[in-house]
Amino acid sequence: MSYKTDIEIAREANKKPIQEIGAMLGIPSDDLLPFGHDKAKVSADFIAAQKDRPDGRLILVTAINPTPAGEGKTTTTVGLGDALNRIGRKTAICIREASLGPCFGMKGGAAGGGYAQVVPMEEMNLHFTGDFHAITSAHNLLSAMIDNHIYWGNELGIDERRVAWRRVMDMNDRALRQTVVSLGGVANGFPREGGFDITVASEVMAILCLATDLADLQKRLGDIIVAYRRDRSPIYARDIKADGAMTVLLQQAMQPNLVQTLENNPAFVHGGPFANIAHGCNSVIATTTALKLADYVVTEAGFGADLGAEKFMNIKCRKAGLAPDCVVLVATVRAMKMNGGVAKSDLGVENVQAVVAGCPNLGRHISNLKTFGVPVVVAINHFVTDTEAEIQAVKDYVTSQGSEAILSRHWELGGEGAEDLAHRVARIADSGVSQFAPLYRDDMGLFEKIEAIAKRIYRADEVLADKKIRDQLRQWEEAGYGHLPVCMAKTQYSFSTDPNLRGAPTGHSVPVREVRLSAGAGFVVVICGEIMTMPGLPQVPAAESIGLNETGQIEGLF
Ligand code: ADP
Ligand code: MG
Repeated sequence: MSYKTDIEIAREANKKPIQEIGAMLGIPSDDLLPFGHDKAKVSADFIAAQKDRPDGRLILVTAINPTPAGEGKTTTTVGLGDALNRIGRKTAICIREASLGPCFGMKGGAAGGGYAQVVPMEEMNLHFTGDFHAITSAHNLLSAMIDNHIYWGNELGIDERRVAWRRVMDMNDRALRQTVVSLGGVANGFPREGGFDITVASEVMAILCLATDLADLQKRLGDIIVAYRRDRSPIYARDIKADGAMTVLLQQAMQPNLVQTLENNPAFVHGGPFANIAHGCNSVIATTTALKLADYVVTEAGFGADLGAEKFMNIKCRKAGLAPDCVVLVATVRAMKMNGGVAKSDLGVENVQAVVAGCPNLGRHISNLKTFGVPVVVAINHFVTDTEAEIQAVKDYVTSQGSEAILSRHWELGGEGAEDLAHRVARIADSGVSQFAPLYRDDMGLFEKIEAIAKRIYRADEVLADKKIRDQLRQWEEAGYGHLPVCMAKTQYSFSTDPNLRGAPTGHSVPVREVRLSAGAGFVVVICGEIMTMPGLPQVPAAESIGLNETGQIEGLF
């Protein structure tokens, strides 16, 4: 049996006008700012007017450590949302916007897959409503104003060797990682080293995703540290007087985007910060708006639960006053097999033993999530190659861990395939058993916070950091940043900092290479291992096979 590709399925979608989708959530058409027929922003005025309404239930979708086999968090988020709507629960989903970089690099979109997708998927993966363009522009305006300030006499005393603010663009382009700017003589300023990051790695992206309204956005933009003086004192974006104009550039982008699933249910798609040097989930404003308008909100956090869910809880929920009512942990038989040592090319062959051998990775995520006080249900995202015995092995393992695993076939069947999962999730969310609490308190020291995550989530024995790093953390505590949460940047493939260490490793240590202060976003980034903020393209980029066919349809994107 052959299956249609994601893009073929998406093309056949029976989309409704976006006003009808808005009406499902009670959004009057005057408060929808349409981008074409099938995308709209929700007006800031309408959002502000909903503030006294009660909130719906919040459901987080997360996963085991990613493997090359693919886990399907977005696909499950969409499928569960559709299934909840099918069983009569008014549900909206919230997911991230896509970056152009990966689109043209490795095949794979951000709109879900199979019969659990958000549409229009081509546009969602390309320019969409221009939010990333706005973020890129706001970021680079600040960059331009910094070099311009230096050019016109440097009144603030910026140490040109200590400019912390780089430039961004939304493309995988390794040639721009390190650059020298202001070359070409006196008229072009003072030469200094610089470089580019991808837009999703911009602190402006993280800020847009954490800001609660435009006033909060402007305050956070002003708090960005752009450079240091010779005496190491910080210079803020506010000192450069860029915060007002940056806010203007971001005014439209701050309004969340509404689109629909293949089954015509509402989907908010807004913001898309990196999940390593930032917190990796859609905007706070999209989530809080959805909670006002729907009875259930299903949202996704990037990477595995050790990174994505941890940050969702310790950064996003803490800062935005959110609390998940239920967590869905996505696992696949294929990923369990890979964790159990099977090579990607051998995944098609039944291997119950390997499934069992790989399950401890799942088990650790279950027990980690429980330490946040949230109920966990495992969703086995069904692949058509899975065998009965393999599925049963995962179910039995999860039962032995005091949880429940439910097979979900949304990729193949849409919402209908996830109804069992939806019934269970709704029952848990309604039960009010969740007693969410972040892992650490605001008033703990920054290093203690890193240790709390390393020991309780990664199950490492120790955190290794030299004196320079510990001194830096102490200095930030003295400067008033000690209350901030920490944002861990480590490999997503393992609980440890070694990407090849699958399963549930113990006895490892977490070396901290570098710490960075994202004062505007409001977290301290802790870098453990190689972290790329400007990806490169692979030897054969997806772009080589993307083009328009004779009828003007996009081919090769997914
Ligand atoms: P994540 O959000 O975890 O990165 P996605 O939901 O985006 O993963 O899925 C990644 C890819 O895997 C998509 O191309 C999707 O079509 C595919 N995929 C997801 N679930 C299944 C499934 N059950 N069967 C086959 N392919 C799937
Ligand atoms: Mg995803």
